[in-house]
Amino acid sequence: MVKSRRPKGKRALAGKRPQWYTCRLMTIMTNKPEETVAAGRALGARLGPGSAVALTGDLGAGKTHFVRGLVEGRGGKDQATSPTYTLIHEYVTPLGPVYHLDLYRAQSAEEVWAAAHDEMEDPHGLVVIEWADRFPGLVPSDAVKASIVHAGEGRREITVSG
Ligand code: ADP
Ligand code: MG
Repeated sequence: MVKSRRPKGKRALAGKRPQWYTCRLMTIMTNKPEETVAAGRALGARLGPGSAVALTGDLGAGKTHFVRGLVEGRGGKDQATSPTYTLIHEYVTPLGPVYHLDLYRAQSAEEVWAAAHDEMEDPHGLVVIEWADRFPGLVPSDAVKASIVHAGEGRREITVSG
C-alpha cells in the first residue's frame, strides 16, 4: 500500500493558513444609525495593530457612524466626526491610535500621502480610510474592506471582507 506523505486534516493546515482560510465575507443589515455604530464597534474590537480598513459608500451611507463604532470598539472615548476639511483625525484609544482619513475632498494621492504617510505607516495604529475608492493606490493591499449601501429608509447593508 502506498501511503500519502502529505499530512491530512487539521495537521495539514497547522502553521500554513492558505488564503481562502483567512478570508472572510460578511453582510450585516442595520436598521438605524446605532446599529451601524455597533457593527463598527464589533470590527474595531477585533483588528490588530497595523490594520487598515477601507470604507466605501455614498454620501450619507453611514461611513462616519461606522468609524465612530471602530473607535469605540478599541475603547476610545472620543466621538468620531467627519475629517472632511482636515483630511485626517486621530483618536487615542487603549489599543493604539485610530487614524481616520476622509478622501472625499482630497485632490490627489500624492497630497494624501504627503499629509498622512507617517500615520499610515504607524505599526501601532489602525488606519480607516473613508472614500477609499477615490485613490485605490493608497489603500494597503491587506486592508479590510467595508462597503455600506442604502437599503431603504433607515436601512443599510454593510459588507465586510478581508
Ligand atoms: P457618511 O460618512 O457615509 O457620509 P454619516 O455616517 O456621516 O455618512 O451619516 C449617515 C446618515 O444617515 C446620518 O444622518 C444617519 O442618521 C443616517 N442613517 C439612517 N439610517 C442609518 C443606518 N442604518 N446606519 C447609519 N446611518 C444611518
Ligand atoms: Mg463621512
